[in-house]
Amino acid sequence: MEQECIFCRIVAREVASDVVYEDTECLAFRDIAPQAPIHLLIIPKSHIPSVAELTEGQQELAGHLILIAKNLAEREGLAAKGYRLVVNCGYEGGQVVPHLHIHLIGGMKLGSKLG
Ligand code: AMP
Repeated sequence: MEQECIFCRIVAREVASDVVYEDTECLAFRDIAPQAPIHLLIIPKSHIPSVAELTEGQQELAGHLILIAKNLAEREGLAAKGYRLVVNCGYEGGQVVPHLHIHLIGGMKLGSKLG
């Protein structure tokens, strides 16, 4: 755990959040500033700063996060109409919180512009 990391502190329950899913490897909670009717964040419990720091040994974890996102999309009723998964990486990628996270966004027709 990184003491300065807001998402590590959410994992440790030092900071409150609206948790929607948890297992031994990951946590999912509602984004504090949602950009769509449904906006969840799926994160590894371990502190991985971004996709750029993922290692070969974390291949299973990376896949697990995507499958959890898929399952949560179904649970939130997004599967039929569709949704978007976004992973920002680094400064120019628009990443603000330096703890790897997948945005699950849906519940409305999203724009085609990504950048
Ligand atoms: P990114 O720009 O990809 O780093 O996205 C970070 C996301 O974390 C943003 O959508 C923020 O609204 C969200 N966020 C920041 N702090 C919190 C928090 N304490 N609880 C829930 N979401 C948060």
